[in-house]
Amino acid sequence: MTEFELIQKYFNLKTEHLPGVVLGNGDDCALFRSTKTLAFSMDTLVLGTHFTQDIAPEDLGYRVLAVNLSDCAAMGATPRAFLLGLTLPQVEEPWLAKFAAGLHALAAQFELALLGGNTTRGPLSITVQIIGELTEGQGLKRSAAQVGDDLYVSGCLGQALLRPQPRVALGKALAPFAHAAIDISDGFSQDLQHILSASGVGAHVFEAHLPHAGSLDEALSRGEDYELCFTAAEADRSRIQQLSQQLNVPLSRVGTIVEGDGMLLENAQGTRRLLKPEGFLHFK
Ligand code: ADP
Ligand code: MG
Repeated sequence: MTEFELIQKYFNLKTEHLPGVVLGNGDDCALFRSTKTLAFSMDTLVLGTHFTQDIAPEDLGYRVLAVNLSDCAAMGATPRAFLLGLTLPQVEEPWLAKFAAGLHALAAQFELALLGGNTTRGPLSITVQIIGELTEGQGLKRSAAQVGDDLYVSGCLGQALLRPQPRVALGKALAPFAHAAIDISDGFSQDLQHILSASGVGAHVFEAHLPHAGSLDEALSRGEDYELCFTAAEADRSRIQQLSQQLNVPLSRVGTIVEGDGMLLENAQGTRRLLKPEGFLHFK
């Protein structure tokens, strides 16, 4: 099977009925039209770095799109379209069929257009570039946390699910009023520190409020949760509670944004200790 047959069979879906798609897969470029602000993000999954040989291909297909959707969610953007970069050591059709099934199922759930991509031979590595839309001025920037904000996390920390549910609906609902947001891909403490550094503020975190299934350490530093960590004004507390019920997503108020820098973790007895950013890093 040549690369063109492979693309034709597994990755060339009709997309021109989807919003914004002027020309779909198959030409030198795809064409997309929008009157909104566009949000772009890209993530790569590499064998040996992000997953091991024994991952099910369906899960890999799901996951490579899910991690990109999570970035859209953290920006408050509505994902619309994506491009797929595939580097494969060989063409193994049963593997590809399952990979494509995992990918297309999630793409269908969010009505995403696969607009194109690139296919090459080499060590297994998969890249998705995603394109979303948002209303001008509503992007949930990391730099937008304000002193006095409440700090929230969605879902449950430290689980590292194989198939995380991207918090797209939550991100969209937060976009009109929340301040800063990030998705927890590398570990809560490390990702929260990105918001704090970008915003020039610090945080108090209440240990007892952190939602976690496993140990506290896992909740603080284990990556791959793909939950949202965000800040919002105190005046929006009831609005956020309502959102949690509407979307059926637990939203825990886990702390406060304060002047200064860094993170203080306060335990149930009121004792505070410095919390160091810990989590996944590619290069140290
Ligand atoms: P070019 O030689 O012009 O770069 P290619 O031969 O790489 O084009 O690709 C042909 C068409 O197939 C293009 O429209 C491209 O976007 C699409 N394509 C290539 N690889 C993939 C892929 N993995 N998934 C989806 N579309 C792809
Ligand atoms: Mg070309």
